[in-house]
Amino acid sequence: MKIYISGEYFERSEAKVSVFDHGFLYGDGVFEGMRVYGGKVFRLRDHIERLWESAKGIALEIPIDAGNMEKAINDTLSVNEIKDGYIRLIVTRGEGTLGLDHYLCHDPQIIIIADKLALYPIELYNAGLEIVTASTIRVNPSMLNPQVKSMNYLNNILAKIEAYKAGCVEVLMLNSRGEVAECSGDNIFIYKHGVLHTPPPEAGILEGITRRVVMEIATGIGLKVKEAPMTRHDVFTSNECFLTGSAAELIPVVKLDSRVIGDGKPGLITKKLLALFQEETKK
Ligand code: PMP
Repeated sequence: MKIYISGEYFERSEAKVSVFDHGFLYGDGVFEGMRVYGGKVFRLRDHIERLWESAKGIALEIPIDAGNMEKAINDTLSVNEIKDGYIRLIVTRGEGTLGLDHYLCHDPQIIIIADKLALYPIELYNAGLEIVTASTIRVNPSMLNPQVKSMNYLNNILAKIEAYKAGCVEVLMLNSRGEVAECSGDNIFIYKHGVLHTPPPEAGILEGITRRVVMEIATGIGLKVKEAPMTRHDVFTSNECFLTGSAAELIPVVKLDSRVIGDGKPGLITKKLLALFQEETKK
């Protein structure tokens, strides 16, 4: 495996950043997780745009332009001969002092890791996930907006620890108003009475790129899509529920907090949207 760091490639064991990098010291940086299908990065432009917005949100200037970033990503794929896999793109604040002062960090680092993908096991797609609600609240957008995909994922990690303790692989996070926000690393959708619902950005979510594609596909087949505040009651009483994310694609959810959703099996709309999503990735 060859890892790209700011213009050079390093073997995995040699790929290192400074312990004074504020990405390491403070989680000061931004990242993207992308999928590669048939040698091409899925929705690359959208990921690049979100990365630049995340960087802008934390006043971090990315040291190369979008065109060169795309080239670096594609070159890393070629060097590693990856046709189907996952890419992690990271931009750190760079090396600084032990203080918080971001303006003393003059050399942001760009890191690109291309790897084979570890999806959820296929059995979970067939049977559907059982998830629980975390008592860890999703960070409030007025504190640090979850739309910034920052290197500081502790909020999500604390929730994921709760998932594992409950024997689950994903976990639902509520916002400080008690509404459904998203999962630790996926967005959430429910389907009820012919309408697909998902929480709006104001609920304090990362606006997932898979979420956007699924909304486009659903609209394209004539489904009504509604972004509106959602509570656990809406999930409990929905006909179908599923999660979306670059790594997971679409994965059905059949239980929340031990309560059965719909008939307890992956729903027809979920299966249809997953099939259409997979067609989209082949285009
Ligand atoms: N929410 C969070 C918190 C995430 O980390 C992610 C990405 N893993 C998502 C949602 C899904 O976003 P995307 O579809 O762009 O991968």
